[in-house]
Amino acid sequence: MHIFFATNNLGGGGTNVSRFLLHLDKIKTKHIGILLNYYYLSLQSTPSFDTSVLKNILEYSDIKDFLKFVKANFIEKKRQPENVKTELDDFIKHYILDSGTGNILRDLINENNINKDSLNSIVELYLQFSEKLNFNLVVALDFALKYTHKKGEGESKVYQELSKGFVNNEKLNFEILKTTIECVKENKHKQDIIAPLHGYSFKSFDNYIDDILKLEQKENYQFHGFGLGGIADTKKLLNELWTVPEGFNQKLKSLWIVSQLTKNTAAKINNRKLHVLGAGNISLIPLITHFGATSSDCHSAWRRANDGDQEGLTESKMLVPLVNSKLQFIDKQNPWEYLKLSKIKNLNCDCPICQEYNIKEIKKLFSSGDNENFYFAKILIFIHALYQYDYVISFCEQNKNYLKEFSNYPNGEWNSLYKTVIENIK
Ligand SMILES: [Zn+2]
Repeated sequence: MHIFFATNNLGGGGTNVSRFLLHLDKIKTKHIGILLNYYYLSLQSTPSFDTSVLKNILEYSDIKDFLKFVKANFIEKKRQPENVKTELDDFIKHYILDSGTGNILRDLINENNINKDSLNSIVELYLQFSEKLNFNLVVALDFALKYTHKKGEGESKVYQELSKGFVNNEKLNFEILKTTIECVKENKHKQDIIAPLHGYSFKSFDNYIDDILKLEQKENYQFHGFGLGGIADTKKLLNELWTVPEGFNQKLKSLWIVSQLTKNTAAKINNRKLHVLGAGNISLIPLITHFGATSSDCHSAWRRANDGDQEGLTESKMLVPLVNSKLQFIDKQNPWEYLKLSKIKNLNCDCPICQEYNIKEIKKLFSSGDNENFYFAKILIFIHALYQYDYVISFCEQNKNYLKEFSNYPNGEWNSLYKTVIENIK
């Protein structure tokens, strides 16, 4: 079974990031989990949001109980349209904690404050936090390059130095993993930890994982699984280094690199968990599931849902579904594309969101001039996309030859893209 994790940056994201949590009860699916970021939850980012609820987080012994408290607090603050009801209980069973892509370490490095002791205390704090809140999965702390830079951030000299030195990053990341193992052993932490992997080519990924496997042997410790990092934006990956077949466009390149890397890694880790960090686009789900990924996350659907502004200068985009709730293909142009709201008349989607709100109603909520309606419309668009993820994963679960079925789908371009990717997997 594959689990798709929807990212939520509670504590760091303004506008409707926290409002989304109010509607977790609308996600009635088996395959959707939530990925939260320690950097934001522990209020280390500036600016921080919802500091009042987050102050109490360590009073809870389960992230689900904490989120219930958050929901009750937000209901009181009326962060939803008046006529919308929400249940405090929800169906989501899977919660993963990510560190926040190296922000914490970058801050330490910028303060010139990184040494064995500081690393040890930061790793230990992170492990204590994730254990206290009973997260199902924890991505070990690591240092990764950021893709999107906020203004000014990229100009930091230290940061530029680090960006240049990938090799140095790997050294630091390896040191952090070592420290993680030491802390787990010393303080008997029990949570399931996955080790993030990085590389600048298939070969360097291979070498890195070999090094970790050796370290595990030496330390007599096994990570619960591994995470493939640094592949969320394959545009940044150099074709020569990744031996991308000639004539591949961006879509093919992305599908192929992530699929091949998933396959290579799965072959080395003996049925342990494999999470694809940040690159779980809907079109990749069947491929990475087939090649051995047990979970993934991706921020695209959330970003596209939030593209629109209230004045209508920019528009939010909705995912065109390919699979319906009965796990049949929908005969529709542009499946799995994100289309601007104004371009959509009917998606033939039968997910619970679309059953309750048709496109006209969603558009109306958007342009009603009321803040809460506006945020709510975006959240509906996002949850509709999550249902598509769930249906696609269910389709893969229930059809033995799912890759063949997607490759033979008569409409759209995914059929030929899938065929080309599969032909080129070694
Ligand atoms: Zn829908």
